[in-house]
Amino acid sequence: MSSLTTALDATDLSALADSIKTWGRELGFQQVGITDTDLETHERYLERWLAAGHHGEMDFMAKHGYKRTRPNELIPGTLRVISVRMDYLPPEVETTKVLGQPDKAYVSRYALGRDYHKLIRKRLARLAQYIEDEVGPFGYRAFVDSAPVMERALAQKAGLGWFGKNSMLLNPQAGSLFFLGELYTDLPLPVDEPFDSEHCGSCSACRTACPTGAIVDDKVVDSRRCISYLTIELHGSIPEAYREAIGNRVYGCDDCQLVCPFTRFTRASHERDFAPRHDLDRAELVTLFAWSEEEFLTKTEGSAIRRIGYERWLRNLAVGLGNAPWSETVEAALRARLAYPSDLVREHVHWALERQREKRERLIAVSRKP
Ligand code: SF4
Ligand code: SF4
Repeated sequence: MSSLTTALDATDLSALADSIKTWGRELGFQQVGITDTDLETHERYLERWLAAGHHGEMDFMAKHGYKRTRPNELIPGTLRVISVRMDYLPPEVETTKVLGQPDKAYVSRYALGRDYHKLIRKRLARLAQYIEDEVGPFGYRAFVDSAPVMERALAQKAGLGWFGKNSMLLNPQAGSLFFLGELYTDLPLPVDEPFDSEHCGSCSACRTACPTGAIVDDKVVDSRRCISYLTIELHGSIPEAYREAIGNRVYGCDDCQLVCPFTRFTRASHERDFAPRHDLDRAELVTLFAWSEEEFLTKTEGSAIRRIGYERWLRNLAVGLGNAPWSETVEAALRARLAYPSDLVREHVHWALERQREKRERLIAVSRKP
């Protein structure tokens, strides 16, 4: 990071911090906060979480030493972090209704449109440009869920919200369906008050609602049980113990956010990039399962979904189809994939066909009862 060439006094810096917040809102961020780089408390939390193995196969969580919890070790010279928040739920998108329709696919609502990383990084770059226009060259780096960055911890310290029992960052006026981004900077800006009050109270709706019991303690998610991890991060076979609980969630899971009472304060996002593409907010499982690899690559171009690749996409959909009510169409769709050249896909297809067979036999048994 290069250092600021012009000397700014406290008054200049305070005015600059105010301007940064105004510019941030003009650029489409709902909230902007500023914090220092001391993440000691969160560092201890991360150490305990890793020691318990809650990160599963996500080795990148343990890989970077203290770079994640000490911003100055990731980007030398970092003094402050500008933390931003952007709502993402598009207007008129169903959530729980689709979860209750087991022949439809549920895609986590953050992944319905174009990949958010690019959009937020571009906006952060523009924010940095505004700052540079004001004060001259300064050191900065923009991050969006892309490097070892403790984004929720930094956002909490910057005053954007508190850690809910589901481990998400919650804002009392906005819920938790938002993206976070960060601008690491060497500007010694005044910091905001951290969000120290916690508003979960005696509520534990998220813990009760989690389909796989992944919230093992308040604010502690065991990723190895979490559907987001199982459908997105996990490369191999999904443990059978969790397949039924996955239901129709084929990419991520929002349950612990959807049941949260603060989610009713979610404000719709009118960012065009976040609007659902290819009916991903309401598509039938069989329709998505019929996509060829070429279609998958075309339709998920510029989407977060693409990162799991076609094989895991089919794996997840096979689980969803195994959990769907019995129908000839579902069975036929699964049978059509029996020769698919991937052990991973075939194994999940066999599992799904077995579930379909059980349901078919149960229906026949019921129909034969006098
Ligand atoms: S995302 Fe789903 S599986 Fe993961 S903790 Fe939340 S409710 Fe549980
Ligand atoms: S559901 Fe209840 S306990 Fe869970 S994060 Fe929301 S308010 Fe907190």
